[in-house]
Amino acid sequence: MKKVIIRKTEEIENWRRNINSKINFIPTMGNLHNGHIKLISAAKNDNSNVNLVSIFVNPLQFDNKLDLVNYPRTIDNDIKISFTNGADAIFIPSAEDIYPPNNNIEFLKASIALSSNLCGLSRSGHFDGVCTVIYRLLDLIKPKNLYLGEKDWQQLLILKNLILTKKLNVSVKSIPTQRDFDGIPLSSRNVHLSKNERKLIRFFSNELLEAKKKFQQEKKISVKTIIKKLTAEKISIEYLEHLHPNTLQKARTEDNISLLAGAIRCGETRLIDHVFLMKRRPIIAIDGPAGSGKSTVTKLIAKKLKLLYLDTGAMYRALSWLLIKEKIDYKTEKKLQNILKNVSIVFKSNENSHQDVFINNYCVTEEIRSQEISSIVSKISSIKEVRKFLVEEQRKIGKSGDLVAEGRDIGTTVFPNAELKIFLTASIDERAKRRKSDKQSKDSQEIDFNTLKELIKKRDYEDSNREISPLIKANDAIEIITDGYSINEVVDKIIDLYNDKIPKETQIK
Ligand code: AMP
Repeated sequence: MKKVIIRKTEEIENWRRNINSKINFIPTMGNLHNGHIKLISAAKNDNSNVNLVSIFVNPLQFDNKLDLVNYPRTIDNDIKISFTNGADAIFIPSAEDIYPPNNNIEFLKASIALSSNLCGLSRSGHFDGVCTVIYRLLDLIKPKNLYLGEKDWQQLLILKNLILTKKLNVSVKSIPTQRDFDGIPLSSRNVHLSKNERKLIRFFSNELLEAKKKFQQEKKISVKTIIKKLTAEKISIEYLEHLHPNTLQKARTEDNISLLAGAIRCGETRLIDHVFLMKRRPIIAIDGPAGSGKSTVTKLIAKKLKLLYLDTGAMYRALSWLLIKEKIDYKTEKKLQNILKNVSIVFKSNENSHQDVFINNYCVTEEIRSQEISSIVSKISSIKEVRKFLVEEQRKIGKSGDLVAEGRDIGTTVFPNAELKIFLTASIDERAKRRKSDKQSKDSQEIDFNTLKELIKKRDYEDSNREISPLIKANDAIEIITDGYSINEVVDKIIDLYNDKIPKETQIK
């Protein structure tokens, strides 16, 4: 494809009509560095869409006119960098093109909830200007994907909110903050820094990175102590806050992932930086009734996101298998408690990259799928001691996160603080159809369709009405009804939700 530079808004529409492809859009203000390069490369590597980089220093987002005048402009080099790293087209409009005086440009207001603190406090109108320009550019370019850096985390949240409220048909893709050799985030404005300013900023960024490391071990943070240390170095702090990463409200003790964000001033330069603090790595909880497609979907998600796959249903089935096989009288509480003391359930990957389940060193992967086990597992999993034992085992497996778990009480009981909760369901008809064609549940193929529907209804009733951990949708779970959707569509939807909620930076292994 011929690489093009577009300077006029009218040309954008012609170009769009000619390319016959979806567009990845990477908006920038120029003076491109490795952060921008990572963003352009991410777009290039993600898909085969056409990549358009825009270079436009947006006057509307500058609250300080001197900052606007002094903003580094290196257009020839930016063109070279963009094309070399994967841009197919570069849009370099003038301010008159973006804001023509006689045109009805919509001037937007950023979400008040997301722009009232952090940078929104000192940079009046800044985020309104960012929203206005991005909305205008999206309207001109109509991309499929919008690529943004997590370096500007508050901006990223505000733009996602804009896309949601304006119901724009564009997906946001983000990349983690890219840092220079000395730890400070790459920024176009860094060229203005004197040696001493750079030293102070390095101190600030390294304090944040240190806090992140310390938090991993101690699971706590003292913002006051960091402020004291920075002040002792004569660093002028605009803000330093410990917040929930998505709402930007004060961090709560139950948040596993939180945001430590700060802004400092060094001479004329203002620098922002942040880190994500993690008690453990992210967890996805997928709950839902039998036959909703949970297992297939969860396995694929685990594979694609390189997460541990926790099949809690298999644990209940394995235990049911043991109780039946060994003819254990599980109705007597004392006896059951003694048995549970000596039960070990582990998952191991097999040579086909699937997961086998072992109970007391015996591989039961195949046997636990029989109709005999299916018909008793709900009853056994409603026994208080069984649930208590297995929930604890499951929490042990999920202690350090990086896991996707499927079951019926994951989001409500096992991991109530999971970062993403999905309630996967489908109509009874759809689930019966799936069970019938499921090669794993051999018995279901011999049962007639209506009996299978009745069995599913009965199982739903038992699961939803048992006293202990019944199947219910967690308040903060997202319900996905899978009727009419392919497995891959459901998987992609959940991965999009994961990427949307969970910072890329916390996903890095
Ligand atoms: P700017 O040119 O500063 O408007 O930035 C253009 C895009 O690049 C924005 O989405 C920024 O968040 C992103 N970006 C800038 N610097 C970095 C960085 N150091 N790491 C990751 N993304 C960045």
